[in-house]
Amino acid sequence: MKSCIIIGGGIAGPVAALALSRIGIKCTIYELRDSPATIGGAINLTPNALKLLASLDVQVAGCVVNDIEIFSYHTGSKLADLSFRGPSGHAVRIVREDLLRALLDAVEKADVSIVYGSKLVSINEMEHGEGDVEAVFENGTSAKADFVVGCDGMYSATRMKFVEPERVPIYTDAASAYAIVDGRELKAPVHFRETAVNSGMYGSLLSSFIDEKREKIYLSAAMQAEEQKDKDGWKVRGADHEKTVHEIQRRFGAVAFTCLPELLGRVEEYTYYPVYKLAPGGNWSREKVVLLGDAAHGMPPQGESTGLAIEDAMLFARVLDKFSGRSVEEAFVAYEKTRRPRIDSAYKQAVMRWSRVKDKSWAVQKLEELFTRAWMWYMADEFEKNFAYDIMKEEIVG
Ligand SMILES: Cc1cc2nc3c(=O)[nH]c(=O)nc-3n(C[C@H](O)[C@H](O)[C@H](O)COP(=O)(O)OP(=O)(O)OC[C@H]3O[C@@H](n4cnc5c(N)ncnc54)[C@H](O)[C@@H]3O)c2cc1C
Repeated sequence: MKSCIIIGGGIAGPVAALALSRIGIKCTIYELRDSPATIGGAINLTPNALKLLASLDVQVAGCVVNDIEIFSYHTGSKLADLSFRGPSGHAVRIVREDLLRALLDAVEKADVSIVYGSKLVSINEMEHGEGDVEAVFENGTSAKADFVVGCDGMYSATRMKFVEPERVPIYTDAASAYAIVDGRELKAPVHFRETAVNSGMYGSLLSSFIDEKREKIYLSAAMQAEEQKDKDGWKVRGADHEKTVHEIQRRFGAVAFTCLPELLGRVEEYTYYPVYKLAPGGNWSREKVVLLGDAAHGMPPQGESTGLAIEDAMLFARVLDKFSGRSVEEAFVAYEKTRRPRIDSAYKQAVMRWSRVKDKSWAVQKLEELFTRAWMWYMADEFEKNFAYDIMKEEIVG
């Protein structure tokens, strides 16, 4: 039986463990944190992602989303709908912590071990024999296996210590600040059905229900933000709650929808999240080490990043299964060739959307609104095709 070390117990890691266990590979997950992360905002699970999770018996609960409504927050007019009402079915908005809990329940049932408090610091290729790769952790422990799967996110140590050290995250000049508030007994009418992107001259404010009872609302402001020198700089910026409140008030205080200022007034604490991306392309594997999810193709959040990480893990298991009599290096090449086109296209769209998160003049905003209407109309069929895409039917190249 082949064995594998998975670095990262975020989203891609547990999904990879579930999919690989099903094809008879023994997996162990090593996670940096001492326990499952409880921070994180609400993420959108696309119809594709929901089908894949169901196929792994992962039960998720959140708010069913039939469409994402896009509004101008200056005029209150609706610009477009991103619809999930087609044959591929709805999406779900779920708090990341709840998704992680559902994945970890399934991982426990599948009898996969997770070793917490294990920060990867280096990887060594061993001489041929049992346990071809060694992962070394900061706490002094190490582990050996036939191959390593790096699912350790945007700041992946697997990538930066072994696969491609020069590929480091790049700041996008934008940040998001998010919070979850009580959505009950609002005085002002709620202008959206499930999820709205309220967009304007000073950024966009996402507002979405996140639970079946529609009692909690997730707010996430995407806005231009000056880069901080280092991690400590971001920590200080993130901890300055007053500054964030003031910033959000300045940007989104005077909007056409009265429920937004009321909801913003209910925020007790914002989480501040600088948005980084990786350069396009890059290497996804080296020798017996491969990258999945954000570690391979970190991109600004566009409502599909989690779905893409889930697809990665599912396709990866399919390819390994097909290549079971061959070397893992050959399987890694086939995986990458098969996966690249869809990722390249998603990456381009995510980067294009986030490049528009900057302060604009009134005239530019008006042009953007016209563009949004035309673009969403033009792309409607493409979006539907995208949500109907089935990674389990993708023809494996090689
Ligand atoms: C705590 C947290 C909160 C997030 N919140 C949001 C959000 O609000 N909105 C959004 O759009 N996206 C968020 N993300 C990112 C989102 O989860 C990913 O974009 C997407 O789900 C792809 O998942 P992934 O598994 O590739 O990466 P991630 O979800 O980032 O998971 C990576 C995992 O690897 C672990 N890890 C990192 N370095 C090491 C190391 N050296 N050794 C061992 N383990 C390591 C991390 O602790 C994490 O558990 C968050 C990620 C994290 C970790």
